[in-house]
Amino acid sequence: KTIKIAIDGPAGAGKSTVAKLVARELGYLYIDTGAMYRALTYMALKEGIDLNDEQELNKYLMNHSIQLINDGVIQKVEIDGEDVTDLIRTPEVNKNVSLVASHPEVRKTMVKIQQDLSKDQSVVMDGRDIGTYVLPNAELKIYLTASINERAKRRYEELIKKGFQANLEEIIEDISLRDKRDKERATAPLKQADDAILIDTSSLSIEEVVEKIMKLVHE
Ligand code: C5P
Repeated sequence: KTIKIAIDGPAGAGKSTVAKLVARELGYLYIDTGAMYRALTYMALKEGIDLNDEQELNKYLMNHSIQLINDGVIQKVEIDGEDVTDLIRTPEVNKNVSLVASHPEVRKTMVKIQQDLSKDQSVVMDGRDIGTYVLPNAELKIYLTASINERAKRRYEELIKKGFQANLEEIIEDISLRDKRDKERATAPLKQADDAILIDTSSLSIEEVVEKIMKLVHE
């Protein structure tokens, strides 16, 4: 029997860091669905596709392949074999991804791709609609959250650590806008599934969150 673990929550709550570690500990496949929406957004910007054009975006998605490659600790993202791992994390993609992700046709195609990826495999999948739409029958559903200040502070420190410039006010603005769009969109809005377990990570370390989830897995 395969086991599915769904991890949802707002931007910067620590989902991908935690999901990756849990997946590694369990030997499950990790699937970062945000990276898939980011990859589509990056390519649409590059190809000059109107980000309001739902049909064109969906056509692009159906005719190209997004691949998530688990390469040890690092997860690489490729579109048609082109490595876009770093290119999908720019401020421009941040700013536009929730618009791309708001289109129902795009979401329908993405959900199908994600369900196919997790077919017949034990997975840890993180995103916004995993427990509610992508894996409604997941054995374990986690909703990770943290205060906006804490989430922005973590993003800020991560960027500085990587040697990038960062502005805390801008990060707060970016995260707030993305959360608002993700929560208010008509299709599959960000929402805690009824059977998801809420974990507020504001005052928890990564290790503590992973440990909490591992306990829940073994319950
Ligand atoms: O997880 P990450 O912050 O990389 O996700 C980027 C954006 O992709 C989110 O702000 C959201 O708009 C969109 N997304 C989504 N559904 C998912 C995962 C991400 O709409 N399952």
